[in-house]
Amino acid sequence: MGSRADLHTHSTYSDGVLTPKQLIDLAHRRGVRIMALTDHDITDGLPEAFAAAGAYPDFTLIPGIEMSTDVPGNEVHVLGHFIDWRGDAFQEELARLRESRLDRGLGMVRKLQQMGINVTWERVKEIAGEGAVGRPHIAQALLEAGHVASVNEAFDRYLSRNGPAYVEREKMTSTEVVELLRSVGGLPTLAHPRDLDNLEALLASLKQAGLIGMEVYYQDYAPEEVERLRQLALKFDLLPLGGSDYHGLGGPQQREPGDIPLPNEPVERLFELARRHGVSERVAL
Ligand code: AMP
Ligand code: ZN
Ligand code: FE
Ligand code: FE
Repeated sequence: MGSRADLHTHSTYSDGVLTPKQLIDLAHRRGVRIMALTDHDITDGLPEAFAAAGAYPDFTLIPGIEMSTDVPGNEVHVLGHFIDWRGDAFQEELARLRESRLDRGLGMVRKLQQMGINVTWERVKEIAGEGAVGRPHIAQALLEAGHVASVNEAFDRYLSRNGPAYVEREKMTSTEVVELLRSVGGLPTLAHPRDLDNLEALLASLKQAGLIGMEVYYQDYAPEEVERLRQLALKFDLLPLGGSDYHGLGGPQQREPGDIPLPNEPVERLFELARRHGVSERVAL
């Protein structure tokens, strides 16, 4: 079933393959009418996205971001919706995080080279373009050089958290990220929580810090997994949200924009919250 809303997508400004305009055109064509652009650690795609969204009178774009957080052993990502992204302090923080992505990307390429795998940092940076560098760019370099047959295989063999080429980078704690997003008027949501250890403890502490939602409807989550997460969201008084996390990189887990069973009701409640936080001056609601 398709949804009118998709609250989690990536463009060429981070590790997605479509420009913001291409992404919005695709989403609109597929029936999406409310979309958040949530690139990793970068908001530079938002002006282009708002310009593209302006071509569709029936389309609402939510300014968003996705940030990785430092939680030992866990890949904890937090989305921020309705962020007031233009402030200097916020942008300086993001620039610092993107800088650490460069060092870490170079570190991963060096590890691969030491393993006798021929990928160059120059090529990875070319693939990343002007956006935030991420592991999917290294995966693409491995793919085009013929070392792996898919992006997923690059993660499975080399780049996943426990993979031989993985390098950590500087991240803020999940509480710090939630607080940072709130400080710029954002509404923070815990991303793709299905496989996280100690999820209930995390939810309790992030709720305290200002978390307002959790992704429940996501990619290939099965109905029973969705139901488990929906009950947890209810328990912690969090909005059950979600999105496709569309990157355009393929893989069995990929869903097209809007191709997730996110109901309208929690999205309406997200907009109500945004209105109460005075977002109307920044986004046409
Ligand atoms: P990074 O921000 O550099 O740590 O890369 C994180 C991104 O890599 C995520 O947003 C996903 O798009 C992708 N990713 C993470 N783990 C996997 C995996 N096991 N298979 C495919 N893609 C993954
Ligand atoms: Zn990504
Ligand atoms: Fe993520
Ligand atoms: Fe994502």
